[in-house]
Amino acid sequence: QKQKQKSTKFPNLDDYDIIDKMGEGAFSIVYKAKHLPSGEFVAIKILRKFQMDQAQKQAVLKEVTIMRQLNHPNVVKFIEFIDSQPYYYIVQELAIGGEIFTQIVKYTYFSEDLSRHIIYQVGKAVRYLHEEVGIVHRDIKPENLLYMPIDFIPSKDPISKLRKSDDPSTKQDEGLFIKGVGGGNIGVVKIADFGLSKQIWEHNTKTPCGTVGYTAPEIVRDERYSKEVDMWAIGCVLYTLLCGFPPFYDERIEALTEKVARGEYTFLSPWWDEISVDAKQCVKKLLTVDPRKRYTIEEFLNDPWVNKNNIPQPISS
Ligand code: ADP
Ligand code: MG
Repeated sequence: QKQKQKSTKFPNLDDYDIIDKMGEGAFSIVYKAKHLPSGEFVAIKILRKFQMDQAQKQAVLKEVTIMRQLNHPNVVKFIEFIDSQPYYYIVQELAIGGEIFTQIVKYTYFSEDLSRHIIYQVGKAVRYLHEEVGIVHRDIKPENLLYMPIDFIPSKDPISKLRKSDDPSTKQDEGLFIKGVGGGNIGVVKIADFGLSKQIWEHNTKTPCGTVGYTAPEIVRDERYSKEVDMWAIGCVLYTLLCGFPPFYDERIEALTEKVARGEYTFLSPWWDEISVDAKQCVKKLLTVDPRKRYTIEEFLNDPWVNKNNIPQPISS
């Protein structure tokens, strides 16, 4: 009787067949799974509840609340959430390619064209998150950037439509495919892991969360500068894509913190010798210590290096 009740309470879980491990984090293991009724493959992030305190459980629910609102080709799609006794299950679209991180390790570093192709898609996702949804991701790094190799993109995906059609009016899909990258195409890059993300604006209204007039200056300030952390992270990712190692590194955490605080990084020779001035300039604008002077997402997407080889794009409102 008890068994029967359980399966009717969580019917969705029985619909999935776990296949193999895609990756893991501090509290989670992510598996590739098959949704049996549809035959579709998905990713299931499984979180062990018993090692979590109340705040950590709250954080998972927040992650789910944020993911539910998101709908963008460069953001991993949320499918469903299952809260069972020992575990939480976050069912998501499967990014079959896995982490960009793994590809950097494999290929050491990427060409400027391939780096642009990747970072531009990250930029599109971040513009969507910052400008349309009003959230900051706060954990952008190569481990949380996944991709769908070009061969694996399902035919119903708008990217295939765009590739077949030369109609330049399909502007809403332009972020899916970079025209004229020449020199590599990894497929569709997707931002994952909203475990640290934070809502800064109410969806649709574009007003800050909470009652505006009563919000403390430090909160207002925090919200004002919070988007900039993602821009800094984009700078770190771009730097890493281009040369294969991160801009800030030290075995000792205090020394690393010092370097970051001072923005102490170099375009190390010989690795950076062949990289264009424009690419370095773009990295520099992102890795600017003063958040007020740092590139915003709009400035980044309009950067000359980012737009090199690209058909000029209208700036969407
Ligand atoms: P954590 O918050 O524990 O870091 P993530 O959501 O980042 O959890 O997932 C951990 C890892 O699992 C990722 O770095 C990636 O390797 C893999 N992964 C997560 N989501 C997906 C997905 N939708 N498709 C494929 N792999 C994924
Ligand atoms: Mg992660």
